[in-house]
Amino acid sequence: MQNNIVIQAPAVAQKRTTREWQQADSAHFLHPFTDHHGLSSKGSRIITKAENIYLWDSEGHKLLDAMSGLWCVNVGYGQQALIDAATRQLKELPFYNAFFQTATPPSIEAAELISSVTPPGFEHVFFTGSGSEGNDTVVRMVRRYWDILGQPERQVIIGRVNGYHGSTMAGASLGGMSGMHAQGGLPIPNIVHIDQPYQFEHGRGMDRDAFGLKAASWLEDKILAVGPEKVAAFIGEPVQGAGGVIIPPKSYWPEIQRICDKYGILLVSDEVICGFGRTGNWFGCETMGSKPDLMTFAKGVTSGYIPLGGVAVGGRVAKALIEQGGEFQHGFTYSGHPVACAVAVANIKLIQQLKLVEHVRDDVGPYLAQQFASLRDHPLVGETETCGLMGAMLLVKDKSTGTTFPGEVDIGMVCRGHCFANGLIMRAVGDRMIIAPPLVMTRAQIDEMMALIRRCLDLTLADAT
Ligand code: PLP
Repeated sequence: MQNNIVIQAPAVAQKRTTREWQQADSAHFLHPFTDHHGLSSKGSRIITKAENIYLWDSEGHKLLDAMSGLWCVNVGYGQQALIDAATRQLKELPFYNAFFQTATPPSIEAAELISSVTPPGFEHVFFTGSGSEGNDTVVRMVRRYWDILGQPERQVIIGRVNGYHGSTMAGASLGGMSGMHAQGGLPIPNIVHIDQPYQFEHGRGMDRDAFGLKAASWLEDKILAVGPEKVAAFIGEPVQGAGGVIIPPKSYWPEIQRICDKYGILLVSDEVICGFGRTGNWFGCETMGSKPDLMTFAKGVTSGYIPLGGVAVGGRVAKALIEQGGEFQHGFTYSGHPVACAVAVANIKLIQQLKLVEHVRDDVGPYLAQQFASLRDHPLVGETETCGLMGAMLLVKDKSTGTTFPGEVDIGMVCRGHCFANGLIMRAVGDRMIIAPPLVMTRAQIDEMMALIRRCLDLTLADAT
């Protein structure tokens, strides 16, 4: 038998009608985080192509993607360098693993390049297929670290209420999403949570930095309640993304760092959203002023063009693992996947060439902050905040008192519906409307987005009054 027959790849059938796609979708495709009852009556919106910061659906409608897909398309859609890197690597070597004392050039190069953009002290990278797997790796690595150091009783990892660290058993446990915990008996043992540094909820009227210190003090309270000798690590997102773009006061992270140092516990920064330029530095911990021991990454490492995640491992943990640890019994088939790593290399080089980190920090980040703040004159908008190219606005019923809408009015979903119908993708988290647009966005495109946001807020207001 001839085993290298050239078979043309089948074209993805673009010929079905939207209705036909929707029928096949509801018949076969179980979507993540979706109520399928609602979906099958309405039908999915079928997204068929993308360019720069725009998407098109199967009906030809254009949408400005203010969420970068799912917080990931940092370099925007259609970047030829990434497409070429994947194509080249698929031809050259589509797969080989890194289990048996083997490696591939792209996996080595990606680890090297990531180490060159991470803060000083991060020289090693462990690859996974996703952010969730990255956080599972964190749990195993942190516990292994304390084992190696002869302190196996240090098992407890502290996360935060409303934090998000993924959907695997450990990821969902580290996260503090009550809905997720309610399904499947989570969190797993030895994972506990403290409250999030969300001033609107926990410190209204307080001085911002005083609130930051107070919120950080909850970590010390928890460490003392658990027993410092049992605590292994603290994990947090520099800016909570899925929780609603909760930006902590400037005083928060340095105080968290001080507390971790005081008790010798490891600090883990989940950079899955904040990494690779989102906050105006390569990593969110640099913007927020902490020096973590481990950093989880995914999403922006390949701008979402292909799945890749991992953990950047700082010197303290790497030294123990490498010099004293023996075999670390952990890994995934796709740890260091050559095609994913080739795309990561092309993506990071493109971020460097286009100076996207500087673009966010010095140009579009401050511009977005200014434009977003101007929304506070809208009757529905209680507060706005941004950090780099991520932002949130809180929709309120009464601005003068800061009263939110009653539970039965899902104002966020009403607003999101108007956005979706009017060519804008924004996400709703409760009453917070959030954005995280591609980092390639220009000032003119921010203006275009702001005009769409205002229009959708007006439509939402008309519904709400
Ligand atoms: N960590 C954070 C901060 C995230 O936002 C996400 C996903 O949104 C994850 C981890 C999980 O990543 P993934 O969906 O790639 O498993």
